[in-house]
Amino acid sequence: MPDLCYLDHAATTPVRPEVAEAMAPFAAGRFGNPSGGHRAAAAARLALEEARESVAESMGCDPGEVVFTGGGTEADNLAVLGTLAAAAEAGVQVDAVCSAVEHPAVREPARAAAKGWFGAGGAPVGLREAPVLPDGTIDLQALEGLLEPTVALVSVMLANNEVGTVQPLAEVVAAARRRAPRAVVHTDAVQAAAWLDLSTAAAGCDLVSVSAHKLGGPKGVGALVARGGTRLRPLLLGGGQERDRRSGTQNVAGAVGLATALRLAGVDREAEGARVGALRDRLATGLVAAVDGLVVTVPGVRALPGHCHVLVPGADREELLVLLDAEGICVSAGSSCASGALEPSHVLAAMGIDGGAARGALRFSLGRATTEAEIERALAAVPAAVDRLRH
Ligand code: PLP
Repeated sequence: MPDLCYLDHAATTPVRPEVAEAMAPFAAGRFGNPSGGHRAAAAARLALEEARESVAESMGCDPGEVVFTGGGTEADNLAVLGTLAAAAEAGVQVDAVCSAVEHPAVREPARAAAKGWFGAGGAPVGLREAPVLPDGTIDLQALEGLLEPTVALVSVMLANNEVGTVQPLAEVVAAARRRAPRAVVHTDAVQAAAWLDLSTAAAGCDLVSVSAHKLGGPKGVGALVARGGTRLRPLLLGGGQERDRRSGTQNVAGAVGLATALRLAGVDREAEGARVGALRDRLATGLVAAVDGLVVTVPGVRALPGHCHVLVPGADREELLVLLDAEGICVSAGSSCASGALEPSHVLAAMGIDGGAARGALRFSLGRATTEAEIERALAAVPAAVDRLRH
């Protein structure tokens, strides 16, 4: 078996050793239920509340505004459905505006709401999708045209998971405040959290989703920041944990892991962003030089430092992934579903990339663990694999 050359950090990241170390005591000794009344419970509660304070500091909010969830998908669902359900309680027309490139964790609940997810009693939800420009950034003018006073939710991701495009979020927030003053503004910052300081980049948003496993933390834990008393109808009902916004005994170890991963990401964010961005640029330039016709989908300056999404004409992404995997090189097509099957990408379609070109779509995503040697390995393997497929 060849050594792993892991270039799929947008899918998930290895757990950082410091994170594993911080979590370890909660798997054994400090196992209490944070809601209990005795000393074992108090020890767990203390750790949970310290984790909440640390997450709040990383995200630029108050500790009471942090809702721990079971990951990014749950944070997004709570943001979208919780906001729309709260707005629909008034019984008036409710509209939602999302960008056309949102992750399915936002897109699917928004679509479900528009198809009557709240049942016959709830008011209908109108869903509008804001188009994007060819580089994946939201068309701000078109967005303005979709915003009006009936809009209860605006959801635009801070950075895209497939192509890495970073959105002009401050402008989105400003447009929403101007034209849809009742709207709650949500951003899915799951991909961005490893690279951008959310305390400034997502400062104007009412709701912000993050997920630990995209930045060196464990899977199955995330958070939704709900600023300033944003109204949310909970999706999980039960014991009333998380101030009634998310029932269920909290994952204390996971919360500690998320807090540690977010804090560590902030320690060397600039230096790592620059290092990884330079490796990404080396990969992109090398691929363009070595593979005839290969196109970089989004210029590096518009994308997160770890993302390098390319289109390879005359090669099928599924076959390319298999050939690269045989060499130990883990990359992705960027749009697979739970079964691993490749799906047509709504992101590439929204960017105006036709189905033929999208067949050769490959996403390389670099992370803190990525080395120069891995980039050189990819630069040797990809042209050879493409050559094999073309001939
Ligand atoms: N949002 C974005 C942009 C993502 O990339 C992902 C994961 O791929 C999610 C949401 C879902 O997060 P999780 O895997 O923690 O449920």
